[in-house]
Amino acid sequence: MPTFPAPIDSRLPWVGTTIFTVMSRLAAQHGAINLSQGFPDFSAPQALFDLVAKHMNAGANQYAPMAGALPLREAIAEKVAALYGLTFDVEQEITVTAGATQAIFTAVAALVRPGDEAIVFEPVYDSYVPSIELNGGCAVPCRLTFPDYRPDWSEVRARITPRTRMIVINSPHNPSGAVWTAQDMLQLEQLVRGTNIVIVSDEVYEHIVFEGRHESVVRYPGLAERSFVVSSFGKTYHVTGWKIAYCLAPRELMAEFRKAHQFVVFCVNHPMQLALAEFMKDKQRYLGLADFYQAKRDFFRKQLEGSRFVPLPCPGTYFQSVRYDAISDEPDRAFVERLTKAHGVAAIPFSAFYRDGRDDKVIRFCFAKGEETLARAGEKLRAV
Ligand code: PMP
Ligand code: GLN
Repeated sequence: MPTFPAPIDSRLPWVGTTIFTVMSRLAAQHGAINLSQGFPDFSAPQALFDLVAKHMNAGANQYAPMAGALPLREAIAEKVAALYGLTFDVEQEITVTAGATQAIFTAVAALVRPGDEAIVFEPVYDSYVPSIELNGGCAVPCRLTFPDYRPDWSEVRARITPRTRMIVINSPHNPSGAVWTAQDMLQLEQLVRGTNIVIVSDEVYEHIVFEGRHESVVRYPGLAERSFVVSSFGKTYHVTGWKIAYCLAPRELMAEFRKAHQFVVFCVNHPMQLALAEFMKDKQRYLGLADFYQAKRDFFRKQLEGSRFVPLPCPGTYFQSVRYDAISDEPDRAFVERLTKAHGVAAIPFSAFYRDGRDDKVIRFCFAKGEETLARAGEKLRAV
């Protein structure tokens, strides 16, 4: 193998391989039940696959339009209008992306200049800060309070400066499962009024809220006017491997987004977009998701009864966070490694979501799994 003949001045010197890859690999190596990386272990309905085959056979195998297949943009517009009361223009305000990760990166790339500040909330989903830094921005962390993972609005107010270009929010929240309230959204709306701050709202778990309703930024005029709203078909239709998502924004913002999008991916695979457009016409397929996952959450929490893990509240997402300080005072990374190797269950340590490695001895389990998997994991966890 040749080697690069000079030292590399890394753009991301503090970044290694993502914790999701690390833990899934460790789970595979040790034959552990993988409750770490978030993805279902069950199949999406055959009807969805049949639709993909139908569109492939009908010839939709060349580039899709840069903004996304029109029927899919229409279906998205209809859904968002019905749920959140605002109609986004299919020509100018909706773009289909290669996953939420690409949508978030593209929104940041389109808006953040070198030296700009972007506020994030820790524990923070792992792609946000690298996206900001790769584009020359400076990530400014605000802490979600421990152990209930609520935003502290006085801290956010104190962190806003004339350089603040963006605030990245995420509710329902990965990894904690916390859900922002109407009060939170009103606070944010009030904080950004009169500024040129842009919001990136990661709403990939919008259909997985168990208590109350999902507070999309779309519902709040003072937020909708300045937000990129991101959702992902991977989460909603059990197809994380398809990497198809979408972004909504006012036309001025979306015009900038598309300038970047067209040179990041240009477009997203075509037959799957057309299949999703047809599949989501049946509203129950997304409206029924919260009940579907609530049953799994309740089943998994029941499995944890009689264990020494202490579950935190889980009002949304398909992640159950637990404290393990009654079991061990090991750092969370050491603990999940041991849990994987010695007990056969893989999880995600929360410290991976803090720049300074803060460790509250909390780990995350993904319960997007069949009951049989969750029951086997429960048995192992009760023995820890
Ligand atoms: N944001 C959050 C909060 C997520 O949990 C995930 C994936 N689990 C993503 C973004 C990325 O979604 P995608 O796979 O569509 O890129
Ligand atoms: N977002 C998923 C999770 O939280 C993982 C996605 C990924 O592996 N990049 O587990």
